[in-house]
Amino acid sequence: MYDPKIDIPRAKEQIEKREKHLEAVLGCIVGGAVGDALGYPVEFMSEKAIKEKYGPKGITEYELDRKTGKALISDDTQMSMFTAVGVMVGDTRSSMRGVGSSPCINAGQAYMDWLKTQNSTYEEMKDHPRGYGNGCISWLCDVPELYSRRAPGNTCLSQLNAYAHGVHYSSDFIAEHVNDSKGCGGIMRVAPFAVYYEPDREMIAMEGAQIAAVTHGHPLGYMPAAVLTHIINTIIYHRENKSLKDIVTEAMEVCSKLFRGTRHLDELVELVNAAVVLAENDKPDSANIKLLGEGWVAEETLAIAIYCALRYQDDFTAGVVAAVNHNGDSDSTGAVTGNILGAWLGGSGIDDYWVENLELKDVIMELGVDLCHGCIMEEGSCYEDPDWIRKYIRMRWKTEDDVDTKLSGFPDLHRMNMALREENTERRILNSYEEWIEVADESDKELIRKIEVAHSNAFEGISEGMSEEEAEKLERKLSKKYEARGIYVLPQTF
Ligand SMILES: [Mg+2]
Repeated sequence: MYDPKIDIPRAKEQIEKREKHLEAVLGCIVGGAVGDALGYPVEFMSEKAIKEKYGPKGITEYELDRKTGKALISDDTQMSMFTAVGVMVGDTRSSMRGVGSSPCINAGQAYMDWLKTQNSTYEEMKDHPRGYGNGCISWLCDVPELYSRRAPGNTCLSQLNAYAHGVHYSSDFIAEHVNDSKGCGGIMRVAPFAVYYEPDREMIAMEGAQIAAVTHGHPLGYMPAAVLTHIINTIIYHRENKSLKDIVTEAMEVCSKLFRGTRHLDELVELVNAAVVLAENDKPDSANIKLLGEGWVAEETLAIAIYCALRYQDDFTAGVVAAVNHNGDSDSTGAVTGNILGAWLGGSGIDDYWVENLELKDVIMELGVDLCHGCIMEEGSCYEDPDWIRKYIRMRWKTEDDVDTKLSGFPDLHRMNMALREENTERRILNSYEEWIEVADESDKELIRKIEVAHSNAFEGISEGMSEEEAEKLERKLSKKYEARGIYVLPQTF
């Protein structure tokens, strides 16, 4: 039934197919973080003030943080990282459990975890249960550096806080129209979704809009996210011989069709057209960008990013530098420009300087690799990937024992994929505590039963016996013992 002769080649083929896109996927994810980190110190500065401080060319290098020596990422990258984890947990659930839900629901769940990083400390959260229901779904909650407020957007905070306090959580955020904000908090975090899927591109554009609409209900808050999603996805998976301008034009056509009749569509079309035209004149960037706005609202963020990407399509550095030196929202215009140019030029098109000095670069690249990889495991398959299980099923980051898998430089996906075991002959991923008890040591059976009861009590809202936190801690300890024997248990909360 679980035939490794079929399963393992299937997994290998899948990995090889995906690996072809690693350059572009990593470029997009890392490029966005670079643009964000470059722009973050000047987010609230006028162009005049930037030039007074950094010279006539404006800011052209990172302003490194005194404490860490790194260029700090802002909320744009933080939230993008949570988008990545949300869509991957969702994808893993549908592969392993057959429980499908749309990416915006899973991204929204992950944003609730991001909210916890803004409202709590790492110490408070490190033992918080993981899983659907009462837990968090993001292994990013184990990354101490993310517990840091980097000028988070008010709309994101207030809308997510509202959900945390019981405001109805939709499955169709566009129809729900959660508020009337068109700030750029939706578009700035959507790229990791755009790199992840390759099937139906109209669907993917619409889902990109839904992800923005989790917090931004105005059509100009979510339609630009659809356009960006389409652009990035096309660059990575359907580039063929198209120029970047062709790709922008195609995205506008698809999205105009998709949102036909939606209010403010004309404004978006007009502004993007202006960006395309301005990118071809020979006037200075500061004059051109002023005509497109300041980027605080999503349609302007998109237009400025398209302008900078088209203008500097052979030069990542010039593109992100142009994208941050203006009066407006420099980190978000930098991030979106970095996403587009990074995808277009690939990871190797980004100078090492930008990657080397980036805060959390290893974690960001790890997410990029995972996004490219996708969930290769399937329900009942022999192919298993312990790293993936830990991150997207157990929802935990590396433990100290795993430091040897730390990344450096742009990694080779095959190297990452140590889990592919040719000699694997039996399925060792267990679907339930029942199956675990069957194979467990006599001395552990009772404990596993107690853990199971604690989870189901927590789910039912019954407060008796072992607490869920306690159960989660014990389960983590115990499952490590079995994982060392090659036995993986899917937790009930997954
Ligand atoms: Mg920001």
